[in-house]
Amino acid sequence: MTIGKLFVVSAPSGTGKTTLLKRVMAQLPGLSFSVSHTTRPPRPGERSGVDYHFVSKAEFLSMIDQGLFLEHAEVHGNRYGTSRTAVDQQLMAGVDIILDIDVQGASILRRLGQLEATHIFISPPSITELEKRLRGRGTENEEMLAVRLANARVELQAVKDYEYLVINDSLEETVDLLSSIIVAERARAHRFPSGKPIGDRVRS
Ligand code: ADP
Ligand code: 5GP
Repeated sequence: MTIGKLFVVSAPSGTGKTTLLKRVMAQLPGLSFSVSHTTRPPRPGERSGVDYHFVSKAEFLSMIDQGLFLEHAEVHGNRYGTSRTAVDQQLMAGVDIILDIDVQGASILRRLGQLEATHIFISPPSITELEKRLRGRGTENEEMLAVRLANARVELQAVKDYEYLVINDSLEETVDLLSSIIVAERARAHRFPSGKPIGDRVRS
């Protein structure tokens, strides 16, 4: 069996990444979402084990000490990390995985160079629209909103490091574009060099 493929997706907070990914996953089979660990408190409606594994700072630090994260970063004042085992298990089972991680996490993975991944950056049409969406979501107080908007300007500069840029203007069109990228990447011939399964190149 072929080892699964990794899709790293980053976007400034409020761009619509969560909304888009839920839709894309509903229409593309064989695609799984890596549930990260975070110290951020849950938003209304978020469920532990589904949206995130919500953990205390002490638990998070202990996981770092045990080397359980493939990557982790502090984003907007909270900690977020990707479990090494969860990603490994799914890839080995042949499942393609979406990693919804920030630009720092994506950069760590690139530097590690252990896993092949397609890096996709989702951008809002403008900062004004981003602010509108963040306010519309109603999950951030004024202070957190300002932090997320300030960070967005920095994060947008990382787009040059990604293979794909997707601008989330019309939701329907963006879902189609994102799905098309994933479908095309899945079909790439270089996944099977000289007839070898990709797994021979995934593990170092
Ligand atoms: P993120 O996961 O990137 O932080 P969300 O998926 O939570 O963002 O979306 C932020 C807000 O923007 C939500 O209220 C969502 O309904 C809205 N939204 C997402 N995509 C669009 C779009 N293309 N046009 C208008 N609003 C959108
Ligand atoms: P939010 O608090 O809005 O859910 O997420 C804030 C930011 O944290 C987003 O940019 C999201 O992609 C990022 N994030 C979520 N999980 C992880 C993770 O495991 N690692 C890293 N580096 N960033 C993450």
